[in-house]
Order: sequence, then C-alpha cells, then structure tokens
Amino acid sequence: MKNLISGKKIAIIGGGPGGLTLARLLQMRGADVKVYERDASSASRVQGAIVDLHFESGLKVIEQADLMDAFKANYIVGADRYRVFEKDGTIRLDEHNKAATGTFGDVYFRPEIDRGALRNILLDALKPDTIVWDSQFVSMSREGEGWLLNFKNGSSARADLVIGADGARSKIRPYVTDITTIYSGVTIIQGEIDHPATACPEMHTLMANGNLAVLGEEKSISAQPRGDGGLTFYASAKYPENWGEDFTANEEIYDFLLEFYKGWHPTFLTLFKATDKLIIRPLNYFPLDQSWEAQANITLIGDAAHLMPPSGEGVNTAMLDALDLSHYLCNGEYPDLQSAIAAFEKHMRARGRLLAQEALDGNEIMYGPHALEALLELLSGERAKK
Ligand SMILES: Cc1cc2nc3c(=O)[nH]c(=O)nc-3n(C[C@H](O)[C@H](O)[C@H](O)COP(=O)(O)OP(=O)(O)OC[C@H]3O[C@@H](n4cnc5c(N)ncnc54)[C@H](O)[C@@H]3O)c2cc1C
Repeated sequence: MKNLISGKKIAIIGGGPGGLTLARLLQMRGADVKVYERDASSASRVQGAIVDLHFESGLKVIEQADLMDAFKANYIVGADRYRVFEKDGTIRLDEHNKAATGTFGDVYFRPEIDRGALRNILLDALKPDTIVWDSQFVSMSREGEGWLLNFKNGSSARADLVIGADGARSKIRPYVTDITTIYSGVTIIQGEIDHPATACPEMHTLMANGNLAVLGEEKSISAQPRGDGGLTFYASAKYPENWGEDFTANEEIYDFLLEFYKGWHPTFLTLFKATDKLIIRPLNYFPLDQSWEAQANITLIGDAAHLMPPSGEGVNTAMLDALDLSHYLCNGEYPDLQSAIAAFEKHMRARGRLLAQEALDGNEIMYGPHALEALLELLSGERAKK
C-alpha cells in the first residue's frame, strides 16, 4: 500500500469543522500536519449557534475520528426540538411536549452541539502545536515541488500539500479555480444576543433552549440557542442582489425590520431590539456544474469547495469531505497525489452538486407561499421515521 502523505508536510488553511476534522483524521494516520487559522486563539470569536450532526455524515465522521464519547459528553440534550409558529403567534408544532426525539444509532436522530464545543472537541484531539493561530493566509508561491505560504502577520511556512478549508471566502480557492459564487436570491439578517434571559425574556422562554421558527408572508424569523447561554437569530427573505448595501447604521436595519415584519406578534420582534449588531448576509453558492483540473499538491474541502445556501448540511458535508480526503490520500489505491486528489474532487463535487440543488430547491419552498406547511410536513415526516 502506498501512503501518499508519508514524509510530506501538510498545511491545512482554516480551522473550521472541515479543517480540524481533516487534521485529526490525518494525524490518526501519522501525518505531519499543521492548521493555519486566522483567529487569534480558540477563544477569540464566538463560533455561532448550535449545529446538528447527521447519522450518515457528521456523526459517522465523529465515530471514525474516535470522538464519539467526547461528542456525547458535549451535545445539548433536547436542543434538536422545534417550536414552529405562525406570524401571529399561533403555535403549530411543539416538540417540547415530546419525551425524546431519538437516540444515538437512530438514523434520524440529529443531536445538536454548540459550534464552539464541537471546535474544542476537535482541537483537544490534535497533537500539541498543530494549530498555528493568528495565521491569516494571504498568498503563496511555488517553491520547488511545494508551496511557500505567506500570512498577514508577516510569517511564512513551507508545505508539500496545501488544503484549503478556509470557508466561503476562501483565499486558497483562486489557486485551484477562478469560478466564483452566484447569489441565491435569499439574504439573512443575523443577530447575536448574549443574554437573552434579560434582553428578550419572552423569546428566551419560548425557545426553551431549542429551535424556534416563525414563517409567513414568504419570509421567516428563526432562532437557535448557543452553548454559552446566548442565542443567534436569522430574519430571512428573498431580496434582490446587493440589497442592504445602502444601510449605514444598525438603527436603519432595525427600522427596516420593524416595518418589514409589521403585524407579526410583538414577542418575535423583541429579538431585533435585543442586539446592537444586525449583520446582513447574502447567501451565495458555487455553480452546480463547476469543475476544474486536479493539481498535484493542492485541494479544497467544505465551503471553500462547494458553498451552498444553508440547509443543515454544510458542517456535516465539510466533515465528510475531510473523511473522504483522508481516505483517498491514505488508502493505497492511487499511484500519486494528483490522481488521489482528482478522484477525491470528482466524488466531492458530485455530492456537492446534489446537496446544493436540494438547498436551492429548499429555498424556493421555504421562501414561497406554502413554507409553513412544508416545514411542518418535513418535521413530522422526519420525526415519524424515528
Ligand atoms: C446562517 C447559516 C446557518 C448555517 N446553519 C448550518 C447548520 O445548521 N448546519 C450545518 O451543517 N451547516 C450550517 N451552515 C453552513 C456551515 O456553517 C458551513 O457549511 C460550515 O461551517 C463549513 O465548514 P468549513 O470548515 O468548510 O468552513 P468554515 O466553518 O467557514 O471555517 C473556515 C475557517 O477558516 C478560517 N479562515 C478563513 N479565512 C482564512 C484565511 N485567509 N487564513 C486562515 N484561516 C482562515 C476561519 O476563521 C474559519 O475558522 C450554516 C451557514 C450559515 C451562513
């Protein structure tokens, strides 16, 4: 068996779920790997809301990375429960009435974990000094058969194999392909609330540490708890491309939201006042038919490779990419790195294409006239299978 990574210096750019999972899996196979991450430290940025891992992807990878015990010790019991409302506050689904939504081993059980906790599990599993913090990649150049990487802080590093796991605005991607993103038609306005129990107590109670969704008039408000007691919310709808660029102050976005959601139950609108930083995020994706020639010593995983609108698959798929890439590099079936990377990328792009199509189809439904009934049907269908 030919292990293609032996004796090679591997640089993973980006310490998100994809990059850290890959580092863990490669280290399990004896790789010499570093992760270069732009954050100053593991504590320098709140990682966002909870994320649910799926049986056939995220959980499978956690198992393969030998981290299931750590995952079970850290997931948030019951956070996968949903409360779904109409815009006037009528409750249409309340899973908090149910005893349990499933257990490990059930195909449809999707336990939620705080993104920060997931990151810490992966970080703790890495050898000391694997992560090089405060390393924002800016450029690289060929050096012999490898690469010389340059970082914003002035440092540089050499690598034989570079893997871009640096997310939606990847700076590694242009070295692989010049294909850029397309706007999906949907924009979210995101807010973080650090102390919801005092800042918006009624919403905090309504959420009951689980998922909350309100749908109507072809728009939505959804909220998810964070592991640190805070919450993240999204006010989403279809908007023209570049919409929102004219807003100059938070107050203007706030005023817009109050007008846009006029007539919705006032409790939902308390979210908007409870944060002083409303962030406008247009949702983009890479073309479904994207393709590029594989190179010998550089590749991409996760959002950097196949950004798609959020559909609950992004973290799961980034982790699955990591598992697949570690397999392609180490399974001994390929004579050289370039053919292993070519086979991996072909497989990854095909999966990404299917998932991105599903995400786009989902957008059409979730921002269409029958969104509420569609979500209820989806949730009742999934839960019924448990
Ligand atoms: C609103 C929203 C909700 C979502 N909800 C879900 C969900 O519920 N479930 C789900 O599975 N997915 C969800 N997703 C998608 C998910 O967040 C992404 O698909 C996933 O995080 C991709 O993982 P990644 O490791 O590829 O990239 P990222 O998570 O983006 O990680 C990239 C890492 O690279 C670092 N980095 C970036 N640039 C550089 C640089 N130049 N140099 C060094 N480091 C750099 C970043 O700091 C970061 O740590 C959601 C996305 C959005 C926008």
